[in-house]
Amino acid sequence: MGSQSSPPTLEFLKEEIPVKQQPLLLSQNIKTGLVLVDLVNGFCTVGSGHLAPKEEDEGVSKMVEESVKLAKKFADNNWPIFAFLDSHHPDIPEPPYPPHCLVGSDEAKLVPDLLWLENDPNATLRSKECIDGFIGSYEKDGSNVFVDWVKSNQIKQVLVCGICTDVCVLDFTCSILSARNRGFLSPLENVIVASQACSTYDLPLHVAKASKDLVSHPQALMHHVGLYIAWGRGAQIASEVSFE
Ligand SMILES: [Zn+2]
Repeated sequence: MGSQSSPPTLEFLKEEIPVKQQPLLLSQNIKTGLVLVDLVNGFCTVGSGHLAPKEEDEGVSKMVEESVKLAKKFADNNWPIFAFLDSHHPDIPEPPYPPHCLVGSDEAKLVPDLLWLENDPNATLRSKECIDGFIGSYEKDGSNVFVDWVKSNQIKQVLVCGICTDVCVLDFTCSILSARNRGFLSPLENVIVASQACSTYDLPLHVAKASKDLVSHPQALMHHVGLYIAWGRGAQIASEVSFE
């Protein structure tokens, strides 16, 4: 991962608020859908706008690599994939974030290794103009594209990956857990976050301190906190994913 807090801080956090993770074995027996959150250039590709890594970022690269692997496996098995693409109208800002992923720009496109999803019959792509993809899935008539995807594919379990662990991945995960608990997402039962296929942006303390406008956001710490909160809401956290 990129520059980050001193390892003792991360170790301390991992001891104080441990994340319970376990390996996940996927099989045909339980219908599983893959949810890719914001694997777009504007968050993942070096130099691609305000919210993309400024330089090579090991955490983000690993997240993309793991997500691509999962997407290929799901596509090979003809299992359903749902991909969110952050995508904003230039006149509608998303505070506190600077302009990013403007509609029609390269930033709002899937990363090069996932562009094939645009033509994959297993994939449903959804542009979203907000942080929480579940909210972003609502249409004007009150229907919800994500709910329809779960129901039409009879999905019992979703595996969530992407960026950012503590922002878009977390908000979406929390929303679908609440929606599931209220019976809106039947037959969905399990919500699982793939920890290695998630990452978040890195804004180390020393960088934030040098500017009055920035707030620190150390990648490894915030990734951990994101997983911890998702788990606390009822998600399972997969340490690794394998296929039967
Ligand atoms: Zn956005």
